[in-house]
Amino acid sequence: MRFISGRLAASLLFTLVFIPVQAQPPGWNDPHPPHKVMDNLYYVGTSQLSSFLITTPEGHILHSSNYESSVPVIKAAVEELGFDFSDIKILISGHAHPDHIEGDALVKEMTGAEVVVGRLELPYHEAFDTPGGKEQPIDRLIDDGDSVSLGGSTLTAHVQSGHTRGCLAWSLTLEENGHSYNGFIECSLNGQFLRYVGNEQYPEIASDIQQTYQKAKEIPAEVWVSSHGIFYGLDEKFAKLQNRGPGDPNPFNDPEGYVEHVNDFEQIFLDTLVRQVSEANSPE
Ligand SMILES: [Zn+2]
Repeated sequence: MRFISGRLAASLLFTLVFIPVQAQPPGWNDPHPPHKVMDNLYYVGTSQLSSFLITTPEGHILHSSNYESSVPVIKAAVEELGFDFSDIKILISGHAHPDHIEGDALVKEMTGAEVVVGRLELPYHEAFDTPGGKEQPIDRLIDDGDSVSLGGSTLTAHVQSGHTRGCLAWSLTLEENGHSYNGFIECSLNGQFLRYVGNEQYPEIASDIQQTYQKAKEIPAEVWVSSHGIFYGLDEKFAKLQNRGPGDPNPFNDPEGYVEHVNDFEQIFLDTLVRQVSEANSPE
């Protein structure tokens, strides 16, 4: 009986968490001012869903299409920065949740971009219910350590399993005022709304995400961003960027903030795990 009630509690949690994601929370697609993060890395996402543009002389790389309804907002952001959406040659698919990949087919249709997807995310993509029954595009599969290059820019993949099975982060070198910085596009370290007890689809989820926090601590991220602006303090950093004077530091160069963020998210995961285990073990 105890086991059943624990499983019920866990599946209720699962349902509560996934309904809002599928239903497109209000305001998530509101436009956000597009801006340069550093060098050739630009923010072109919505108010809540990150998308990044890496520009090169040979065309551009877009990271994350988000919802299908986000794509026109992203296109407008790209154009506001003075770039052409049809110059996107590569789409790096976001992690395998609808709010990051639903627009992949539309971006492919509009640009003809090569779509790169994490190999471990493949089962989710294959089963994904695309809007209008479109084919979910996959042109290249990425493993840990693989790289994607275009026009002199190279992004290297880091698998951050847990939030999704094959959650991919990307590192790249960025330059500003003669200095080189370790750029890092994090996947998601959000372990708060995942199901750790009785997760039959992903039984090793808790150990995977624990390893991901350890791995994340070893990454020397300086200029770092993530799949949701809220994870990296987008609003505060963007406000600083707008008031940045000559000689002021780039607010996105935040290595201490990165370490703090990883530690905070690890602690939230640990608290969630403890709570779920105790709920699974306690009688009604
Ligand atoms: Zn997600």
